[in-house]
Amino acid sequence: MWRYSAAMPIRDGEARVSIGEGMTPLTEAPELAAAAGVARLWVKDEGINPTASFKARGLCMAVTRAKALGLPGVCVPTAGNAGIALAAYAAAARMPARVYAPRTTPPPILGSIRAYGAELQLVDGHIGDAGKATMAFATETGFFNVATLREPYRVEGMKTMGYEIAESFGWRNLPDAIVYPTGGGEGTIGIWKAFQEMIEWGWLAMDTPLPRMVVAQAAGCAPLVRAFKERADHATPWVNPETHASGLRVPAPLGDRLVLRALKESRGAAFATDESTIRANTFRIASTCGIDAAPEGGAALGVADMLVSEGVVGRDARVVIFNTGSGASYRW
Ligand SMILES: *Cc1c(COP(=O)(O)O)cnc(C)c1O
Repeated sequence: MWRYSAAMPIRDGEARVSIGEGMTPLTEAPELAAAAGVARLWVKDEGINPTASFKARGLCMAVTRAKALGLPGVCVPTAGNAGIALAAYAAAARMPARVYAPRTTPPPILGSIRAYGAELQLVDGHIGDAGKATMAFATETGFFNVATLREPYRVEGMKTMGYEIAESFGWRNLPDAIVYPTGGGEGTIGIWKAFQEMIEWGWLAMDTPLPRMVVAQAAGCAPLVRAFKERADHATPWVNPETHASGLRVPAPLGDRLVLRALKESRGAAFATDESTIRANTFRIASTCGIDAAPEGGAALGVADMLVSEGVVGRDARVVIFNTGSGASYRW
């Protein structure tokens, strides 16, 4: 990921905390393309990252900044992957880390957080309650709170996914659409920010057609899809969020306005799929590509199947879907 350091908030000579994040494989999937009725389709597999999700990119950047700024430690509320990534990068930086997780978080996730030496605090209630506890702890101790979109650096790491796509496509002829499984919005916002920067800085020609950004959510928690349909500029909280794709179980995304703006600017779209469609498509990615897909990736494929019939792209389209994490984290 640090090959793009010229575009990232780091000064010459500052140490980079790195354990092999980024430059994830982009695998073409002809069978999935044919089924979706598009010309070509690729899966970008973020499950290959350290700690098995794209969260590694953002937490890598945030911990690098925290270390450079000489902060006493880092903390985060988590439903899973952000906590594991923070714990690993804090360990690599030799910084103290504290992670707040709901007591109901799957045991293997809690085990991973502890295994990296982070101090784990279990919270009664949901991720919002963990968020409040984290904020109180950060205020008291001066630890850096790296909760989703509460600080500026995680997005700067996430945007390397956009740079990688541009480089993979030869800095021209970018894909027609990118389908991203969206919860809090950091991944989607980061990728769109990358495309803006590449145009501004001349890394991409001014007249390069940019991909349509497409948000994939679960029918049981789809505040961004609902807001997009209503042409609203912000989302209202989703009551009773329910989906096994835990990365998408974000009822009140903090990045709602920026995500909706990216959809508008890119002439993108937002769709939701139900739980059985998510399960079936998670299996389709794994069983046709050999990629250990997470349910969030399955949601993205389910939405890719809708793009032609919904009029977002034509049959000649080239589409990239993101598998944001590894399926292994969900099998226990
Ligand atoms: C966090 C997460 C998401 C959602 O990402 P946002 O940047 O919050 O939209 C999707 N998939 C997985 C596997 C995640 O861990």
